[in-house]
Amino acid sequence: MYRVALTAPDDFDGWRGAARRLAAHDIDPADIVWQIGSDASDLFGDRPPPPERPEAAFTVPRAFVDLAQTATLHRAPERFALLYEQLRRIRSQRGAMDDSASPLLRRIDMLAKAVRRDMHKMRAFVRFREMPESEGSRYVAWFEPDHHIVRANAGFFVRRFTTMRWSILTPELSLHWDGDTLNEGPGASRGDAPQDDPVEAIWKGYYAAIFNPARLKTGAMLSEMPRKYWRNLPEAALIPQLVAGAQAREAAMIAATPRSPADDSPERNSVRAWQRLRDEAMGCTRCPLHRDATQTIFGEGPVDAPLVFVGEQPGDQEDLAGRPFVGPAGQLFDQALDAAGVDRARAYVTNAVKHFKHERRGKRRIHQTPDAGEVQACRWWLTQELSLVRPRLIVALGATAARAVLGKAVTISRTRGRPIALEDGTEAWVTVHPSYLLRLPDEAKRAEERARFVEELRTIGDRMKAAT
Ligand code: SF4
Repeated sequence: MYRVALTAPDDFDGWRGAARRLAAHDIDPADIVWQIGSDASDLFGDRPPPPERPEAAFTVPRAFVDLAQTATLHRAPERFALLYEQLRRIRSQRGAMDDSASPLLRRIDMLAKAVRRDMHKMRAFVRFREMPESEGSRYVAWFEPDHHIVRANAGFFVRRFTTMRWSILTPELSLHWDGDTLNEGPGASRGDAPQDDPVEAIWKGYYAAIFNPARLKTGAMLSEMPRKYWRNLPEAALIPQLVAGAQAREAAMIAATPRSPADDSPERNSVRAWQRLRDEAMGCTRCPLHRDATQTIFGEGPVDAPLVFVGEQPGDQEDLAGRPFVGPAGQLFDQALDAAGVDRARAYVTNAVKHFKHERRGKRRIHQTPDAGEVQACRWWLTQELSLVRPRLIVALGATAARAVLGKAVTISRTRGRPIALEDGTEAWVTVHPSYLLRLPDEAKRAEERARFVEELRTIGDRMKAAT
């Protein structure tokens, strides 16, 4: 029996080194014990992993390395053994990573998905509370992850809160950032973190302001924000009253709307498919943009909307609020829709790229345009959204959105103002992004361009009415 002693529950490098040596010697998975720490080594005549065999070295697909790196963070004790088994399959079977029917691969994939979800939850639900210290304030948060994700998530918090001095305490491990160096400490208990601070009132006000009852699905909300996190969230104190208000309004809407009695009506199924898609997108790592952003900003609106607006990417405020088009450009967009007589509530609004790409300058996060590779990576999600919603008209706001919708780069000035027939029969329109109007320095030019934008939206609104 071979015993592999890993240094920590998330010791991917340790697993990889041992797994490669064991696989090169063709050691059977049943003959290996994976353990954290070295307490029990050499009992019962166990052996350490065999030495390197350079002549039997082999390469594995990048997709496996990424998958294994993520799945290693799962709490399931069998994760190392499962990954080793898959590694052996890759060695002996061509296309082992493409075998979507493989129960082993599916199981590993589920582990990785759970880890990605947990990482997303940590990013979304960590709330810092101020603690005065002799060198200034330190912001301390308490978080209880489901899996061994804290170290893997550290880079995100360092990039996101570079200028703050902060600590994140968890039962297994603590992270401490002093603005320059990241240190690890032992696990802590909830009582080690402060329970409230003066910033909470501001946060609660912000949460109440961005709370959107139209998006409220109590079940989905509980799966996205399980009650175990509520204890750490200042805004959780508001949830019951906000939910009660929203449910009363929803009940009134249901009473006023004729509905199919069947729970599996096509409409309900589309909503469920959309929810699944959005949940999946929350853990997306198809391109590097997920690393620095707070969360995936998925599209929103009716899943049977006849009209879809596609923007470029979420901005700073959208990244924090979790919704598309709520920042300054979104407000201008709403005003223009109003002026054009187009009801935003009847449209599905999304972005070509779902994570906020930015560069940090001091405390500010400055927007950066996504590159062609990022647009292409994220086009997968946009295509899924469009195939679910199946709109009659798609409006691309700006060059990035046009690239995503049309599949090629176009010049806005040459493309705007006329319908473009897509292969599937949908009608596409291209116009400027509202942020372009905000950036125009000349007031007269801004007013002129805004009027043109409103006129285009009016034409599109008329086409939509004619088509429905
Ligand atoms: S930007 Fe799009 S493709 Fe890239 S990680 Fe985010 S959701 Fe995935």
